Formats: sequence, C-alpha cells, structure tokens
Amino acid sequence: MAEAKGHVLVTGGAGYIGSHTCKALAAAGYGPVVLDSMVHGHPWAVQWGPLVEGDVRDAQLLDSVFALFRPVAVLHFAALTSVGESVADPGPYYDNNLGGALALLEAMRRAGCPAVVFSSTAAVYGDPAVPGAPMDENHPLAPVNPYGRAKLAVERMLADYGAAYGLRHMSLRYFNAAGADPEGELGEEHDPETHLVPLAIGAALGTRGPLRVFGQDYPTPDGTCVRDYVHVADLARAHVLALGHLARGGPSGALNLGTGRGNSVREVLAAVERASGRPVPCEPAPRRAGDPGALVAAAGRARAVLGWSPDLTDLDSIVSTAWRWHAARA
Ligand code: NAD
Ligand code: UDP
Repeated sequence: MAEAKGHVLVTGGAGYIGSHTCKALAAAGYGPVVLDSMVHGHPWAVQWGPLVEGDVRDAQLLDSVFALFRPVAVLHFAALTSVGESVADPGPYYDNNLGGALALLEAMRRAGCPAVVFSSTAAVYGDPAVPGAPMDENHPLAPVNPYGRAKLAVERMLADYGAAYGLRHMSLRYFNAAGADPEGELGEEHDPETHLVPLAIGAALGTRGPLRVFGQDYPTPDGTCVRDYVHVADLARAHVLALGHLARGGPSGALNLGTGRGNSVREVLAAVERASGRPVPCEPAPRRAGDPGALVAAAGRARAVLGWSPDLTDLDSIVSTAWRWHAARA
C-alpha cells in the first residue's frame, strides 16, 4: 500500500519541511526514500521510509540510489537555509544549493527520472515593488542575498533542463514555513535556530533567552516586520499535489505557497502567549540586515494550478501546533 505509487526520492527529507512531506507522501501511497547528509537533519524525523545518508553532490551515490529505488520523481529540499549566513559566507551556498541541484539534475538525466519538485522561496523576489502588497509570481525576481540568488539560479536551471531535456518541474516558492505536525510526530528543530516561532516558544518556556524583536520602525501597523506564515503540513500537501500535477503531464512552472495573510512579529508573540498561557519575554533589537518590512504571498496561482489552498489559515492554529510539539519535548 505504502509504495503503490512508487518511490519518490526526497533530498533533505530528514529536515523540517522534508520530513513532514515524507509523512504526507506515505499517506498518499508513495514510498519516500530520504537522501540527507544529516548536516542539519534528524534521525528521528525519518519515519516513513529508508534513509540514505550522503550528500546530494555525490554523483556516484546518486547513481546507485536511482538504480536501487527507481524513483518516479524527486522532491529536492536539501539546502543550506540561513539568509544571514549566505551573506557572510556565500561560497557554501552556491556550492551546496546550486551545485547540489546541478548534480541532482544530471543524475536524473542519467537515470531517466522525469520530474522534480524544488523547494524555492519568497526570497527570489527580493523587496516588494509595492511595500506590503501581496506578491504574485509575476513580481520582478530581484533577490537581495546569495541564498535567494542561488535559489533563483536553480529555478532558471530547471527551466533550461525542461526546454532542452524535457524535465518536468515545479518550483514551490514557500513564504514562512511554521508549525508542526498536528499529530505531534514531527516538528521544527534547527541548530542554530533563527526562526521566529521556535525562538518565541523557547523564550516562553525559558529554554532560550528573551526574544529579540528585530526592528520597531518598519512602515507596518505596529512597526514590526510582517510575514506570511504558512503551516508546514499545508506545504507538505502542496508537494503531493505537485507530484500528481506533473505525473498527469501538467505544465512546469513556479508557484507561491502562502496564506495571503500577513502577521507582524508582535502578533506572532501574542499568538505564542495565547497558545502557551505564558508571557514571551522580549526586548527591542535593531533591524536585522536584509529584512524587508512585509512579505505576503498572492497564492491564487497554486489554487488554480494545483487546487491547493491552506487548511490552517489562522495564526493561532498554526502556532498551537508548534507549541504542542515544543512543550512535549521541553
Ligand atoms: P532544514 O535545514 O530543516 O532541512 C534541510 C535538510 O537538507 C537538512 O536535513 C540537511 O541535513 C539537508 N542537506 C543540506 N545540504 C545537503 C546536501 N548537500 N546533501 C544532502 N542533504 C543536505 O530546512 P527546512 O526549513 O526544512 O527547508 C527545506 C527547504 O525549503 C530548503 O531548500 C529551504 O531553502 C526551503 N525553504 C524553507 C523555508 C522555511 O521557512 N523553512 C522557506 C522557504 C524555502
Ligand atoms: N524575527 C525577530 N526576532 C528573531 C527572529 C526573527 O524579530 O529572533 C523576525 C524577523 O525579523 C522576521 C520575522 O521575525 O521579520 C520572521 O523571521 P524568520 O527568521 O522566522 O523568517 P524569515 O522571514 O527570515 O524567512
């Protein structure tokens, strides 16, 4: 039953979004095979299929994985993910995120694997042309950091491989992934952690210091940054839909994944306080370099193309799942 639709290779499947997607894949009848270097992955997150420990830049390893499992498609999550780190030290971002994607696409060509879903990001857009306005997929692509530039380069590589070799592909541009598996089997754990929701929960639990609120003077209703927080289980479901779309011969392209609703840092902190019943100790801090004031998705194309829209649209529901995960492990 678990493999009725065939194996899917999930690079980075021991990480946050990849592991939630493996659970959704298994529920939909695919057999996920995780390839993860474990540089930021967790053994406990690999629960729905085998783990091949290794690097996506390892061509020989990729050939053996394709030969052994004959995956019907690839979901490519494996990447370094810290924007700030990519500014300070861009080399590993181009090597791992761009070089890794190139090695993967070449192995797919050799193996004749026809389709890939790529973890792209809102960072391919850069600063919104109209501050605060939702950005659709036609927004100019002007990333402002090496992380976003490497992701955009992969999107363009996918288009070239599609045109020349017939590779079918979907780039999913996530906005801010948040929350945890509603059944409590998975959650978010990055080391070092840079994301707002887990840091705020850690502050509420007392396992981390006070939350530093980066910037109080943005042109937003309460002066703090606004982001579009989308639940990780909704992201996972979008990948399953994208696989079906490509398998049916649907057109390749790029889609935003967000809720279309923005919440400020202060609204997130209030939601953590409601979920936890505890105060979130916080302190004002300067703006973080490279942070646009507001990033909100226009997500209508994902609905039109995939029939996807998020199930969990309100911040309290999203944050509650994260709170339950962290509180159970504290
Ligand atoms: P994560 O760090 O939890 O997962 C990434 C996984 O990739 C890790 O398990 C890591 O060990 C693995 N990995 C890294 N380099 C590898 C390599 N060369 N070979 C094999 N495995 C490798 O990150 P995440 O938050 O789950 O993000 C998943 C993807 O989604 C990334 O591509 C990221 O850029 C993208 N993304 C994330 C967000 C977000 O809000 N978390 C937003 C937009 C895009
Ligand atoms: N943020 C913050 N304090 C923190 C971490 C994040 O104020 O300790 C803010 C950050 O400036 C951004 C929002 O929270 O506006 C979301 O940041 P995160 O790092 O979670 O995701 P990003 O938007 O950078 O992808």
